[in-house]
Amino acid sequence: MSKFYITTPLYYVNASPHIGHAYTNVICDCLARFRRIQGDSVFFLTGTDEHGEKIKRAADAENTSVENFVNSKVSVFKNLWNKLDISYDFFIRTTDNFHKETVGKAIKILFDKGDIYKAKYRGFYCMPCESFWTEAQVKEADGCPLCKRGVEEIVEDNYFFKLSKYESWLKSYLKEKPDLIRPRIRYNEVMGFLDNNVLEDLCISRPKKRVSWGIDFPADSNFVVYVWFDALLNYISAVGFDRDEGRFNSLWPADIQLIGKDIIRHHAIFWPIMLKALGLEPPRIIFAHGWWKIGEDKISKSKGNIVNPLELIEEFGVSALRYFLLREVPVGMDGNFSYKTIINRINSDLANDLGNLVYRVLNMAQKYFSGRIDAGNVNIPDSFNSSLHELSKEYAAYMNEVDFASALDAIWKFIGVMNKFVEEVKPWILWKEAKTDELKWFLFSLLEGIRITSIYIYPFMPRVSESILEQLGLVPEKDIGLENVLWRKRTFVIKKGNPLFPRIDVD
Ligand SMILES: [Zn+2]
Repeated sequence: MSKFYITTPLYYVNASPHIGHAYTNVICDCLARFRRIQGDSVFFLTGTDEHGEKIKRAADAENTSVENFVNSKVSVFKNLWNKLDISYDFFIRTTDNFHKETVGKAIKILFDKGDIYKAKYRGFYCMPCESFWTEAQVKEADGCPLCKRGVEEIVEDNYFFKLSKYESWLKSYLKEKPDLIRPRIRYNEVMGFLDNNVLEDLCISRPKKRVSWGIDFPADSNFVVYVWFDALLNYISAVGFDRDEGRFNSLWPADIQLIGKDIIRHHAIFWPIMLKALGLEPPRIIFAHGWWKIGEDKISKSKGNIVNPLELIEEFGVSALRYFLLREVPVGMDGNFSYKTIINRINSDLANDLGNLVYRVLNMAQKYFSGRIDAGNVNIPDSFNSSLHELSKEYAAYMNEVDFASALDAIWKFIGVMNKFVEEVKPWILWKEAKTDELKWFLFSLLEGIRITSIYIYPFMPRVSESILEQLGLVPEKDIGLENVLWRKRTFVIKKGNPLFPRIDVD
């Protein structure tokens, strides 16, 4: 058993979650569930980023106190995670007292080390993105490089963190660990950036006269801590940095930190350097997923093309939505979101291939043997061998590589083999000819195949997996582990339920 510490980014609570937030958490949940059924000790962290002027303004716009505002947004996020079956172990808020204390301590450590200093700051600020840009960046993009809106020039005193001091360390560290940033395209992007730019020190304070809602800068209450510097530290404050040494040492470094590709620089440059300066190891893997787009646009609040995940769950069900997000595009690539593609996936992969198979087989077991199948011959059908073998051999590797598309491909290949087996054996003829033993072997093989399939799909669609196991007369909590994917002699006592995925009619 090994430990597995996985994190999502902290979501900024200035608006309600959209499909992009749901996507990150579904990816993490899938990995966390996979590691749990593999027997690992998982700590799955998610949470919310609640500081910054943008949030203060959003609260003002709703005529409410900022505390009320962030509390209400936190419940919106928690409600969505609940509806999406996100099995996080801890939900951190940057307004949590222990987190604020950790941020203060971390800054003090860096200050004492000489890695933080005070100086004049000149930059161009984009309020909606809460990002500072250099003159060159603003010129090149003709505005904010992220959102293209106009920016505001600002000159003021501030505290700086010495990113530049660690530039050459970061370069050689990443060169030694080309698998730390994934997928490869993002690694290349970060290395390209480091090769073409000199790292400037990071401004990590904001004067209170401009930004009032934030963590007080230690020893200088005229300033608050820059939201990104505050938020990144959650990954160590949540697991007890400088508070609970035993716990911290047992969990850090994080095994995988999932992010969207738009925040790669914060996570692949600032974050490892902050850790290094604090005397800590960088995370083992930073994995950046792509964007869901409608047409060519990234889905985002500012563009107003939000796809509401709650409505999608309402319409298609949580399992189908999770499956679609994890199946439609390889994690790391961009995907196009449309109702047509999600309905196609549901009808062909879920209703037809999987749902229909389970429904037919359980029906036959009920009809021919009153739901009790205890075969004498439990040999694996020859046609099952190669796809089952691939699954047992490759599944864990695909999952560990976050290659969900290949894992699902391999599972669906086996489902296809089972469907073909039904067509070829023609059980109704065996029944007519009273070939009871053969018919029992046929049904046992399919039930055992379905049982094994239900374990493999658990990380993707936990509810479906549990429902199948229950219909097979098994106990999900007991029978879900990956150690159970072996073909075994057993007696099935079927408890048939409703079809797993009703087809969706398209008109
Ligand atoms: Zn912007």
